[in-house]
Amino acid sequence: MDLGIRGKRALVTAASKGLGRGCAAALAEAGVDLVINARGEAALAETARALRARYQVQVIDVAADITAPEGRAAVLAAAGDVDILVTNAGGPPPGLWSDWDRADFIRAIDANMLTPIALMQACLPGMMTRGWGRVVNITSQSVKAPIPQLGLSNAARAGLTGFVAGTARQVAPSGVTINNMLPGIHATDRAIALDSGVVAAEGITMDAVIARRAATIPARRYGTADEFGAMCAFLCSQHAGFIIGQNILLDGGATNLSM
Ligand code: NAP
Repeated sequence: MDLGIRGKRALVTAASKGLGRGCAAALAEAGVDLVINARGEAALAETARALRARYQVQVIDVAADITAPEGRAAVLAAAGDVDILVTNAGGPPPGLWSDWDRADFIRAIDANMLTPIALMQACLPGMMTRGWGRVVNITSQSVKAPIPQLGLSNAARAGLTGFVAGTARQVAPSGVTINNMLPGIHATDRAIALDSGVVAAEGITMDAVIARRAATIPARRYGTADEFGAMCAFLCSQHAGFIIGQNILLDGGATNLSM
């Protein structure tokens, strides 16, 4: 299928690895020029090189912390006018409800709520003026079914989800769509970090942790960054203009909701 977005320009934050990289790669495959970001320079430069070589699109890489105001300013300055925005950042650490103080909550809210909101506020006006835009926020399945040990993530992403629900309806008349993608477990560094915590806590092997987790998922496996990226590119395509303000689960059926 031709996604109809060849020659458009996208900003994908937190995109040197994992789900962000999957989204960047799928957009590049559709012919979209990219501005990508992550903190670590080496992995980011390597991702940019690989995407340029494989898809012959323009890729600008900006090493910066997207959750810090000055990092965000540098990324937005390099991005300029974008047609497509994919927001992403690292997820907060797991823990127990009583572990966290105000500073922990502020960090999580900054990273996983206020950062995507600031990116949208920066990019939406131009999209609306031009009469076309696509925004995808990477959130989590925890939005639909909060995960007990991810209290910081549950809290921050609930706030973002509420903001998007209203904003998506306000910008839709200008030809701009905003949707959220909710990953369940995917085989990325983040999954390795979470599973390593279980290995350490329970003294069992990584293989045992992965097999036990996969057994709870109807698809019986972890998701891949490639299939996640393919959905992102579709949501950013010409064909997705009637999909507004949705929270789309990609979790292998793990979350059992009737609607
Ligand atoms: P990942 O494999 O660890 O990749 C994270 C990417 O984000 C890396 O490129 C990392 O590069 C970059 N990054 C992290 N913090 C950043 C920051 N402050 N500024 C700029 N770039 C930053 O993670 P992932 O699995 O793709 O997860 C992406 C998001 O989805 C996270 O919010 C995660 O919580 C959420 N999620 C993931 C899963 C899963 O199973 N994988 C499930 C539910 C939700 P640098 O470290 O070099 O900055």
